[in-house]
Amino acid sequence: ATLPGPAPREVATHCPYCALQCGMTLREEHGQVTVLPREFPTNRGGLCQKGWTSAELLTHPDRLTTPLLRDPVSGELRPASWDAALDRIVTGLRDTQQRHGRDAVAVFGGGGLTNEKAYALGRFARVTLGTRNIDYNGRFCMSSAAAAGMRAFGVDRGLPFPLSDLGRADTLLLVGANPAETMPPLMRWLTEQRQRGGKLIVVDPRLTATARQADLHLQPLPGTDLAVANALLHIALTAGYVDESYVANRTTGFTAVRRTVAGWWPARAEALSGVPVADLEETARALGTAQRAIILTARGAEQHAKGVDTVTGFVNLALALGLPGRPGSGYGCLTGQGNGQGGREHGQKADQLPGYRKIDDPEARAHVARVWGVSADELPGPGVPAYQLLDSLGTASGPRALLVFGSNPVVSAPRAARIEGRLRDLDLLVVADFLLSETAALADVVLPTAQWAEEDGTMTNLEGRVLRRRALHRPPPGVRTDLQILTTLTTRLKGGAPSYRLAHRKGPLLTTIEHAADGADATDGEHGADPRAVFDELRRASAGGLADYAGISWERIDAADGVFWPCPDEDEADSPRLFADRFATPDGLARFHPVEHRPAAEEVCAEYPLYFTTGRVLAQYQSGNQTRRVGALRRAAPQAFVELHPDLADRLEVTEGEPVRVVSRRGEFHAPARLSAAIRPDTVFAPFHWGGAARANSVTNDAVDPISGMPEFKICAVRVEKAGTS
Ligand code: SF4
Repeated sequence: ATLPGPAPREVATHCPYCALQCGMTLREEHGQVTVLPREFPTNRGGLCQKGWTSAELLTHPDRLTTPLLRDPVSGELRPASWDAALDRIVTGLRDTQQRHGRDAVAVFGGGGLTNEKAYALGRFARVTLGTRNIDYNGRFCMSSAAAAGMRAFGVDRGLPFPLSDLGRADTLLLVGANPAETMPPLMRWLTEQRQRGGKLIVVDPRLTATARQADLHLQPLPGTDLAVANALLHIALTAGYVDESYVANRTTGFTAVRRTVAGWWPARAEALSGVPVADLEETARALGTAQRAIILTARGAEQHAKGVDTVTGFVNLALALGLPGRPGSGYGCLTGQGNGQGGREHGQKADQLPGYRKIDDPEARAHVARVWGVSADELPGPGVPAYQLLDSLGTASGPRALLVFGSNPVVSAPRAARIEGRLRDLDLLVVADFLLSETAALADVVLPTAQWAEEDGTMTNLEGRVLRRRALHRPPPGVRTDLQILTTLTTRLKGGAPSYRLAHRKGPLLTTIEHAADGADATDGEHGADPRAVFDELRRASAGGLADYAGISWERIDAADGVFWPCPDEDEADSPRLFADRFATPDGLARFHPVEHRPAAEEVCAEYPLYFTTGRVLAQYQSGNQTRRVGALRRAAPQAFVELHPDLADRLEVTEGEPVRVVSRRGEFHAPARLSAAIRPDTVFAPFHWGGAARANSVTNDAVDPISGMPEFKICAVRVEKAGTS
C-alpha cells in the first residue's frame, strides 16, 4: 500500500479482523505499510492471510474520503462537505424525533468497534438521542453463548481461561467451531495439544478443515447438537464419569438435568442426529476419563432458535464432569468478531449498560447515570434485539431513522431481502464506514471513517484480554473517526434535549480534539473525542459491574500482554482464569438448567427437501465488505459457492461449477455448485460473505432464540435447482 507518509515508523498493534486479535507490527517506510508478525500470547507470531493483507485497504481505491449525500433529484449518492452531511443528519434526526418521538431514531453498532466506540455509541443513543432503540450485530454472532454463560456461571466471558490452556487439555471437544478456517493461528494450540498426546473431537455437520485434523469427527444432522449433548451426559452418568463431589459442592440444579438426560439414551440420539452410538460413547469416555478436558462451542452450535439451550446442554456436560474452574479444563465460546467480547460489555446491547449491567436494574441505572451526569429517570429502558429492531424499521410502530456504525446488515442479517426492504423504507439512513458497503449504498448519508491503523483504542479478545490497538498514522484528509463523528453530532444536536446538554457539560467526551481530520470542526468550536478519555470514563462506568475495567489503564495494558477483566483495582492482579473458587452468582454456585431438544423452526418437506446451513471460508471475513476488496483474498476466494454432496449432485444432475439456485420460503440466491463428500447428502452449505444475487442470507430463517435473540442462521429448509430452471 502506498501512502504519502513522513518518517519511517513502526507500531505494535493487532489485526483488524477476528476475535483472536493476533499481534502484528505495522511498519511504514517510504510510503509503504507492511504487516509483520509479532510474538503475542494468542497467535505466537502467526497470522492468517487476512491479517497479512490487512494494510491493503488503507489506500484502496474504493476507500471513502468524503461524505456522500443522496441527491433528491437523481437519487444518487454524491460527494458533499462534512457540514452539509452533518446538517442533513441533524435536521433529519430532530425532525424524526419531533414528529414521532425519541424512539423513532435507532442506532445499530458492531462487534468490530473498539471498546471506546461501543461505549460512546451506547451513551450517544441513550443520552444524546434519548432512544431505547440500540443494538448491534454481535446479536448475530455469539449472543446464545453469552446468554447460556450468564445463566450458568453468572457472567459471560468467551473463554474464562487463557488460550494457552487449550494446549494442555487431554481432551478437547469443539462443537460447531472451525478455527482452521476462521482463526488459523489458534490451530497452533490444537497442534500442541495433540503433540502432547491429547485427543481432538469435532462436532460439525461438515468435514471441515478442523474436523479433518480431529481424532474423531461427529457429523450430526444440523439442529441436533442438543440431542448429542444430552446423550453425552446420559452416557457420562451411566458410566460414572460425573464428578459428584463437584456437582454437590459447586453447583445447583443437577437433579432436574439428571431427569432430563435420563431419556436421552444413545440410540435415541443416534436415530435423531445420525451420530453412531459408538462415537457418542467414545466422546463421553474421552471427556470423562481425561485429567483435563475443555469443551468449546462456536456459531455452529449457537446460531439456532434454540441456541441458548444447545450451548446450555454442553455447559451442563462440562459442569457435570467438574471442568469449569480447573486449570486446563472448562467450557468456553470462541467469539468471532474482533471485539465480539468487548462489544457486548459496554452498552451497545439493547438490554445492557456499561460494565455488562442490566439496563432494568435500578442500581445499575443509578451508577451509570451518575457517571454520565444525568438522572437515572432520564435513561431509556431496554430496547429490542437486533433482528426485531431491523425488522421494525420504517414500519408504523418502528423507528423512522437509523444510524449504522461498523455493520453491514444488508448482507449479514437473516432473511436479508426483507431487512433490505425495511432499510429502504426509512426516512433517514446514515451509515458510517470506510467502504461503500451494501448497506451504505442504500443510505441517505454516508460518513467516511478512519481505519484501524489510523486511530487508537482498545479491544477485548475472545479470552477477555483487553488489548491496545495503536495508530500508525493519522487518517487521510476528509476522514474522521467514529468518536469524532459521535461527538460532533452530539454537539450539533445540543439545544434540543436537556439531558444531552447536561451530559455534555459533565462528560469527558468533550476533550479537545487531538487531530481533527480536516479541521472543519476545530474552527467552529465543536470537539472531537480522545479515545483515552473515553476509555477512562468507560472504566468508571464499568466499576462494580460484571465486566469491571476500573483497574485497567492504557499504561497497564502497555506494560503487559494485555489485561484480563474483571480488574477492579489498578494495584491488584487481573483475572486470566475465572471460577477457581466460586462462580459469579450470588451464592457462588453454578446453575444447571434442564434443556430439551426441539425441532428446528423450519423442517424439510416435499417442496424444500434439503437442510441449508451457512458459514465462513478462510480468505473472507463476515459480510465481506472489506475482504472481498483485497486482491489476494479475492483471488483465493473469488465468489460464493454452494457445497453439495456428490450423491445429491447426481440426483439433481448438477455438475461441478454449474450455477445453481438455492430457494427457501423467504427468497433465493445463485452460486456455482461445489461438489464435496465433506458434507452430508441431506444438507447444503454456502458461505455468507457475498451480497447481491449470491447472498446466502436471502434464504436463511429469521426465527430467533427466545432468550438471546439469535437468528437461526444454521438451519432452514431449501431446494436446489439448476439456475436455468424455474
Ligand atoms: Fe487476523 Fe483473526 Fe487471522 Fe489473526 S486469525 S490474523 S486476528 S483474521
